[in-house]
Amino acid sequence: MLDKLIKTSDIDIFATAEIGIETAKREVWKVEPSSTAKNCRNFIREIVDTLDLQPNPEKPVIALSIGDPTVYGNLKPSPETVKAVIDIIEEGLCNGYAPSVGYESAREAVAEYLSYDGVNFRAQDIVLCSGCSSSLEICITALADGNEGHNILIPRPGFAIYRTLAESIGVQVKYYNLIPENNWEADLQHLEAQIDVKTTAIVLNNPSNPCGSNYSEEHLRNILDIAYRHRIPVIADEIYERLVFPGKKFISTSSLHSGVPILVCGGLAKRFLVPGWRLGWIAVHDEIGAFEHIRKSLVSLSQRTIGSNTLIQGAIASIIQNTPQSFHDELASTLALHAQIAFERLSNARGLTPFMPDSAMYMVYEINLRHFPQFENGLDMAKKMMEEESVFCLPGECFQIPGFMRIVLTVPQDLLEEACDRIVEFCNRHYIE
Ligand SMILES: *Cc1c(COP(=O)(O)O)cnc(C)c1O
Repeated sequence: MLDKLIKTSDIDIFATAEIGIETAKREVWKVEPSSTAKNCRNFIREIVDTLDLQPNPEKPVIALSIGDPTVYGNLKPSPETVKAVIDIIEEGLCNGYAPSVGYESAREAVAEYLSYDGVNFRAQDIVLCSGCSSSLEICITALADGNEGHNILIPRPGFAIYRTLAESIGVQVKYYNLIPENNWEADLQHLEAQIDVKTTAIVLNNPSNPCGSNYSEEHLRNILDIAYRHRIPVIADEIYERLVFPGKKFISTSSLHSGVPILVCGGLAKRFLVPGWRLGWIAVHDEIGAFEHIRKSLVSLSQRTIGSNTLIQGAIASIIQNTPQSFHDELASTLALHAQIAFERLSNARGLTPFMPDSAMYMVYEINLRHFPQFENGLDMAKKMMEEESVFCLPGECFQIPGFMRIVLTVPQDLLEEACDRIVEFCNRHYIE
């Protein structure tokens, strides 16, 4: 046997290791995905697909589940945003490759866009990415190493992609709880208790998907204090940055000068209503020089895809500078109005407790399942609501909080009203004392 191995070529030895010692050559096609591929899971799809949703044919479907503000066509990007891209295409100067971190002019524009409340970013602090998801992927990959047994802390409830990105590269996630009754603030004791020697990043999502919460300066400071004490960098998912309801103020983590090194992730998707354009960024905020090596890693990692879409990069300065404040204000007012409407209507449903958001595009409500014993759990309830009312809300299981559901506030007002009324009827019909 040893003889045979030694005499075979390199390729045959490789095949031997793969398919067993007896066969030196591969005789059948056996193409297997890598562990990265196998560990890469879409948790929302996995949950929703098991539900086998069948709407009531008598009622048109209203999807309150889709986290894409453009699906119903009522929310559109500003004309300035559209024009900026048309101009860039016509100029024909952005058809080639850009540096993998982005054009200098585009990075400059993003740096300026994020420089407010006493924060000063420079172009060299910015890495442009293919959407904020790609920014998050690069940050998690830069800071956490599956081979070293690293873990990162992520919020519960929270956006499912953090776990998808971490686990696909063998990095463990540990959850820290958010407290619904406390405007979804992090449970600080719980957060701190999750930290161990293998923790290499804390993911902070403010304003939050799915909660629609917007943290106070004090709360952000408390979280950053913990990160500072334990010397753990923060990945701040600020994709909903400044997308807060009228009268509220968004506080960026960078503006608190906490000394904590922070990778701020953001993008055009939500505030400019163009999620499909795939333009995100990482902004490196590092007052103490802890990210010297990480900066280089971000550049290296951006080279894996040779950077993001150059048309949007070419347009971004003009998108950012020419979109009037009134556009952002109107979007925020619409979302606030929709939140108010949904909150008021859902408050009439027996057995539901809606939580009023003050930012972003979502609202979460709690289901008092004790009063709905005919449903096995929240997933079952979401399924039956679809079957009877043709309204679908994302079950809390998708965000790691069973017993809750998330609705999106971006649908047209009449559909939102109709959907909420159907939810109320459904609950009142099934409620048991
Ligand atoms: C939508 C969303 C993203 C992803 O943004 P893209 O730019 O479309 O990749 C990231 N984080 C949160 C919390 C989101 O809701």
